[in-house]
Amino acid sequence: MRVLFFSSQTYDQDSFTQATAAPGLELHFQPARLTEDTAALAAGHEVVCAFINDDLGASVLQCLAAAGTRLIALRSAGYNHVDLAAAKRLGLAVVRVPAYSPHAVAEHAVALILALNRRLHRAYNRTREGDFTLHGLTGFDLYGKTVGVVGTGQIGAAFARIMAGFGCQLLAYDPYPNPELLALGARYLSLPQLLRQAQVISLHCPLNDATRHLINARTLADLTPGAMLINTGRGALVDTPALIEALKSGQLGYLGLDVYEEEAQLFFEDRSDQPLQDDVLARLLTFPNVIVTAHQAFLTREALAAIAATTLDNITRWAAGNAQNLVEG
Ligand code: NAD
Repeated sequence: MRVLFFSSQTYDQDSFTQATAAPGLELHFQPARLTEDTAALAAGHEVVCAFINDDLGASVLQCLAAAGTRLIALRSAGYNHVDLAAAKRLGLAVVRVPAYSPHAVAEHAVALILALNRRLHRAYNRTREGDFTLHGLTGFDLYGKTVGVVGTGQIGAAFARIMAGFGCQLLAYDPYPNPELLALGARYLSLPQLLRQAQVISLHCPLNDATRHLINARTLADLTPGAMLINTGRGALVDTPALIEALKSGQLGYLGLDVYEEEAQLFFEDRSDQPLQDDVLARLLTFPNVIVTAHQAFLTREALAAIAATTLDNITRWAAGNAQNLVEG
């Protein structure tokens, strides 16, 4: 059975070729992003393996189904980019990797917090220029601070455990409270209450109709002035132009983003020799108290190995008529 990987990078090829694939699976790696223009490359491949910035809207799914694809194997946990109703109509099964390493993403959120707080991005540049001054680098003790966790599933819980280790007070917001957070002493509050009390807020909920632009001009007004916001969830959880206004006024004191609403056209590509066309991202990158990483929170050796193992297992089981990790609309 032929499997075509879209948006594949060298680290994908490495992790999938090191994992043990069932005999009979032929893996083909394609660096191009899946779009209407590239969907034809999948002709003759029963399985398409896609990542988060691939286009899995109705018209692309239609092209894939017409050319013989029967399974979309997502090598991600999130599936907000798939038109599940169209997939069902076209008889395409969709599987995903529900958990690979929650620690990878949680630890990256913490890396953003520490770098923003202690201004490591500025200190790194300064010492390389021979400037050994400390002005503007004052941080704060995380010990004793109040941290708000929005979405307390696997990643939110891993994040909460780390922050509890720093001696932070935990607040949480999730329609389904997690007993593990309660055991850590977290208090579940409404989102406005959490935003009013937390000095650091980290988003770990999925993107859906209820969470799109959860952080917007109205909710940003609830923040403790100067608070830090971290988003490793999905770009559209926040209204980015509203973040820029809040950064300009000082209402938002620090911003760490691993995801961006318009990232599909930019992330995972080297565009360093071209003018940045996205004016919102360009403005964000001018702030000294903002760090943007290009959707790398998942990128650890352990997570890549787990993604490869589960994806290959998902494909093998689906082929045997015993599908697991199906995503249904
Ligand atoms: P999970 O399903 O274990 O947890 C999600 C939690 O969000 C659940 O507890 C759920 O009840 C909660 N939730 C649902 N709707 C909510 C709402 N309206 N408000 C608050 N909470 C809500 O998922 P997870 O494995 O912890 O992953 C969380 C998200 O992280 C994924 O959906 C994905 O978008 C993102 N993610 C990002 C990366 C990255 O590399 N940056 C990697 C993996 C996952």
